Amino acid sequence: MSERESAVVDAVQKRLFIEGKWVDAADNGTFDVVDPATGTRLCAVANATPADGRAALEAAVAAQPAFGATSPRERADMLDGAFELLHERIDDLALLMTLEMGKPLAQSRGEIAYAAEFFRHFAGEAVRIDGGYLTAPAGGARLLIARQPVGPCLLITPWNFPMAMGARKLAPAIAAACTSVIKPAHQTPLSMLALMGILTEVGVPAGTVNCVTAMNAGAVIEPLIRSGLARKLSFTGSTRIGRMLLEQCAEKILRTSLELGGNAPFIVFEDADLDEAVDGAIAAKMRNMGEACTAANRIFVHSSIIDEFGRRLAARMAAMPVGRGTDERVQVGPLIDLAALQKVQSLVADAVRHGATVLTGGSATPGSGYFYPPTVLTGVPQDAAMADREIFGPVAPLIPFDAEAEVVAAANATEYGLVSYVFTNDLRRALRVAEALQTGMVGLNQGVVSNPAAPFGGIKQSGLGREGGASGIDEFLETKYVGIAMD
Ligand code: NAP
Repeated sequence: MSERESAVVDAVQKRLFIEGKWVDAADNGTFDVVDPATGTRLCAVANATPADGRAALEAAVAAQPAFGATSPRERADMLDGAFELLHERIDDLALLMTLEMGKPLAQSRGEIAYAAEFFRHFAGEAVRIDGGYLTAPAGGARLLIARQPVGPCLLITPWNFPMAMGARKLAPAIAAACTSVIKPAHQTPLSMLALMGILTEVGVPAGTVNCVTAMNAGAVIEPLIRSGLARKLSFTGSTRIGRMLLEQCAEKILRTSLELGGNAPFIVFEDADLDEAVDGAIAAKMRNMGEACTAANRIFVHSSIIDEFGRRLAARMAAMPVGRGTDERVQVGPLIDLAALQKVQSLVADAVRHGATVLTGGSATPGSGYFYPPTVLTGVPQDAAMADREIFGPVAPLIPFDAEAEVVAAANATEYGLVSYVFTNDLRRALRVAEALQTGMVGLNQGVVSNPAAPFGGIKQSGLGREGGASGIDEFLETKYVGIAMD
């Protein structure tokens, strides 16, 4: 590590953040955080025990009444403060994220800016929480409709967007006056620990936001869900874990928001602008090295243009520099760990066995770090494993199609329903297909849908609820109706 890299890692607190204090785990346990570009240890952070998890949740419960009574303007000021500090420290925070997660620095800076936008957006929402006052249809009685915070929340985030996924939950939770315990992924706890410092600096009161880092998430989180002390779970991660947590939440009927896995179809019709479609495919595929829930997972291209599209995409992907994300020239960093690398390798081998042709990439060079080269495969049959599973790597599988109805049916033939992308210059077709696709979001002639003002989320087994936009704060609010006698 360079001197600056060590300084950025050293500056972060590596303990649990409970009731406004930094504390060691009850048994003083720690676990290592690893740089995926080198496979070497960056530092160790506290490994929470179930008792620590309980203490964090009790702190959130104790803080709820006072935080629930803060004014919307006070909370908006805290959120605006977080927006400012994230921007002030963007370079150090981006470097920290690149070190723990691997993505290139420019993308890390982009993610910090994106995370900051959630704080700015929800500063606006905090002061616009609405209600209603109605006259009963039969006259006489009045109906007062108020919004109240759901109460203490459990927030669980994945490793692929270490700051943004936390910001997308914490900002609306704070705006809605909910207290919380957040648990970042064990691979990438440092960004969230850094954010705890920032939230303290901007005046978020002790106990309002608590952070536990843990190696054994299930042992810490399940008792909290079952305790009945939390009123809501907001989870971003895999469908497999989300399904399990939803079952656990059933016992105490917790409110749940789930942002789960995806298997995004990316459809290029014969009338699309090819350069625009290639740009879109690079954005939808290569952001985060393909480690995004929104990543284009199946690229359907009309058979009349698939050869030309494949040539152009392969040329662009082959030219992307791969390496440690701390080098500003790098556009493709390492995958998160060895298991991720092995999964991508086996999915590519399976596709080739099923008859796919490699246009570029296709095999990793052994060495330190978990690097996989940008890869384009064409003629991928729909029974290849990668057509059915999240690839989570820089691999673009091209699948030919001939008819609109055929591609819509193929795109919908998945248990997932997060996002789809459509490239066409025919307005009627664009709207027809966007309506027919079974996904919560559609990118029309664009390869990125993330936006703080958008209701981000999926249908089918990609999730429940929405994050961002006005819907984002609704997830943290209950509706209370007061019936008023007037006679
Ligand atoms: P994951 O394995 O499901 O883990 C997500 C989080 O859940 C981590 O903090 C993890 O902790 C925790 N966790 C694991 N087992 C748990 C348990 N038994 N009880 C409570 N918490 C538990 O997912 P991931 O590999 O980190 O992230 C990748 C997945 O997230 C992909 O499927 C991706 O599509 C999805 N994702 C979805 C969205 C969206 O908005 N829809 C956004 C980003 C990512 P540990 O790290 O300690 O295991």
